[in-house]
Amino acid sequence: MVGDEVVMNSKLKNRKLNAKDIWVEMMGLIQEQVTKTSFTTWFTPVDKIEIDHDLKVIHMGSGEEDQVNSVLNSRYIKILETAAEDVLGYPYRIIIDKVIEEAAADNEVLYEDDDAHLMPQYVFDNFVVGEKNKLAHGIALQVAKAPSLAFNPLFIHSKSGLGKTHLLHAIGNYIAEHDPGKKLLYTSSEEFTREFVESLSSHDRRQIQGIKRKYRSLDVLMIDDIQFIEGKPKTQEEFFHIFNDLYNKGKQIIICSDKEPAALTELEERLRSRFQWNMVVGIEEPDYETRVAILFSKAREKNLQLDEPGIKAIELIAENIRNIRELEGALTRLTAFAAVLGEEITPDFVRDTLPDIIKQEKGAITDKDIKGAVSKAFGIKAADLESSKRSKEIVLPRHVAMYLCRDVAEMSFKEIGRAFGNRNHTTVMSACEKIEKEIHSNMELKSLILELIDKLE
Ligand code: ADP
Ligand code: MG
Repeated sequence: MVGDEVVMNSKLKNRKLNAKDIWVEMMGLIQEQVTKTSFTTWFTPVDKIEIDHDLKVIHMGSGEEDQVNSVLNSRYIKILETAAEDVLGYPYRIIIDKVIEEAAADNEVLYEDDDAHLMPQYVFDNFVVGEKNKLAHGIALQVAKAPSLAFNPLFIHSKSGLGKTHLLHAIGNYIAEHDPGKKLLYTSSEEFTREFVESLSSHDRRQIQGIKRKYRSLDVLMIDDIQFIEGKPKTQEEFFHIFNDLYNKGKQIIICSDKEPAALTELEERLRSRFQWNMVVGIEEPDYETRVAILFSKAREKNLQLDEPGIKAIELIAENIRNIRELEGALTRLTAFAAVLGEEITPDFVRDTLPDIIKQEKGAITDKDIKGAVSKAFGIKAADLESSKRSKEIVLPRHVAMYLCRDVAEMSFKEIGRAFGNRNHTTVMSACEKIEKEIHSNMELKSLILELIDKLE
């Protein structure tokens, strides 16, 4: 589109001129209208001029000096356009390039596809769904299928190592695959902070504008570990404006945090409240079955063939570790050791190579151990716990024992009912709920239970 050699139809008719020549002609005219200082300061630094004769537009500017562009843009457009019309014989619009970029619509600027920062290995397909993450998973999937429509903003929280980052990328990868036109960005609040701090300290307005523009041009913003902007008011301020801008344009925002919004106490109230505008969902530590399933899934990814002892080894790990990142780490170490030493993966091999994670075979805790410990602590007979006695001295220890069967031995309500004189599972449920509630207000009971847990484990 940029014509270097064009045939003029004005007073320069029949002369072949390229853009440079036209600019020289224009400068001659401008020189007569401005002071010498102005001329050398603002016009001679122009080193780029491109002419679009179809659209009748001239793009020009200084590649080096932003101030030149901004002054040309604010003060000299009229003079430039007049000079251009005089030389070219037709009104041309002057666009000062660098300044244009700043004011440009939120599109296409500074954005490239792999800027989304997505990790391809984190997808929904390899996210194992269990009791404790199925809600977060289901909601994440809905957001991936209908960004901006299902839940916006979406706020996912959990302790570390339970799958937030995995889900965040899974959403991004899903959208990238199904709707490649969408502009996505995965970032962490630390990265976000770093970007802004760097650009602010450079005092380069263009850089700051560029970053803002990048964020505002997104269709989906995935921001991880938002807790790191706690106590950083300037970053929070920038994030606040980006949040509003995207939200108002109906763009999807997904936030992950290691705390729920209410616990982000060092966060501005206006941000905290926005995080709770729509969907807040938590992930908890996976139960035993899910931990086994996750280990099997990771083992499959590693092409590990597991025989009977191998399966037992996996179960032993799952009994001892609750955090998914640690589960993965243990499996990685185990398989590496096995390969190096040329050994089979067996429970004994696990005990040898990962002694730090195998506490006292915590998984082996049974209702019998719990009944023993509880009856001893309360000074009653273990058999009373299973009996139908309903005196106060027996009921509380029984509830505590049931609670521990749930919490420590991870038995189901049904199993617990069976272990306590064939009681109904709803009885067990309400006993566990009672203790759960009681613990919050009754410090004495709480420390007793913590002591019991300590002893059992
Ligand atoms: P977080 O961001 O909550 O700290 P991550 O998403 O980084 O946790 O998860 C830690 C590791 O555990 C990652 O390697 C991730 O792939 C894995 N992981 C977490 N949840 C699951 C899951 N449900 N299924 C499979 N792998 C998981
Ligand atoms: Mg994470």
